[in-house]
Amino acid sequence: MTAPVAPEADWEKAPGLLDGAKELTLGPEECDLAYWFTSVAQGTLRDRGATGHHADALTPDFLKNPGPLREALVLEFGFRALAEELATRLLGHYVSRAPGIPEMEFYATQLIDEARHARVFRQHLVDLGVPQKTLLAEIDAMARDYRARVLDPVVDFTLDIVRDQGDFAGGVAVFAIIIEGVLAPAAELSERKWTPLSPATGEISRGTAIDEIRHLTVASTILRDHVRAHPEYEPRLLEILRSGVRLWDEIPDREFVIHREELFQQGMHAHADLIGDYEVWPGVKLLDTTAEQRYDMAEQWTDEMAEVRMAYMGLPLGVLSSEGGA
Ligand code: FE
Ligand code: FE
Repeated sequence: MTAPVAPEADWEKAPGLLDGAKELTLGPEECDLAYWFTSVAQGTLRDRGATGHHADALTPDFLKNPGPLREALVLEFGFRALAEELATRLLGHYVSRAPGIPEMEFYATQLIDEARHARVFRQHLVDLGVPQKTLLAEIDAMARDYRARVLDPVVDFTLDIVRDQGDFAGGVAVFAIIIEGVLAPAAELSERKWTPLSPATGEISRGTAIDEIRHLTVASTILRDHVRAHPEYEPRLLEILRSGVRLWDEIPDREFVIHREELFQQGMHAHADLIGDYEVWPGVKLLDTTAEQRYDMAEQWTDEMAEVRMAYMGLPLGVLSSEGGA
């Protein structure tokens, strides 16, 4: 008999990323190493361990030929592969700083999750025709500017808190609220827009989204419990969040996202037959959207998710607005 898989990690039953992150309340005690082996490695990843997608979920040939759609996907997955690699390296500090066994086990699993995400995003580029031999060099070259202007400042900010100041809870807040709080809605958008075009791409995104529900909800529980046990920590936590929001405001991520959304825009009309009436969100057909609208919707999802998660943690939402109010 196989061990039961938790519904939120079950490929068929798991909710979407935004719904899951808003509605579920998971903590480090339940999402321990045993949970990960049973529900993730043998659950979510059953038949999808090697590539992040089922062998039957194919990459269409048109994505292997030059064109704006292929370029959009190569850029998106190349950048995300690098971001996930840097996330993995950062999480090593969380494992070593974790105050107790539940937190240590949970961050050990998140470290493996992010290393896996980096791998499946990267290897998908090989499905698109990037030679395995030059894969790393190509990602390096295409993401050099993105790394220097977007990723490195975020990494330095996080290292200062978790490694140099040894503030584990502050590090958890930066990772889950500042970094993943913004990236998760972008990931949700990615899953929704690639699903009608490429089954393999859609499945890779779906698998990472299932993991992300766990990352967001468990971190929120760690923070909620930490602030409950140490109310005197809250002002410092809010100050960290304010500086994180200021940092994010200064970082030019928008130009990178809009560039690839515009490439997607050109490409999706060339394959309108595949997309048809597919709705990217309720009531709105993907084919009727613009690059700007999709970007704005991801921002709106970020705000909606933050509202629910901040309330769950008992923290004031205003601290996340650009004005930095309380
Ligand atoms: Fe990830
Ligand atoms: Fe994550």
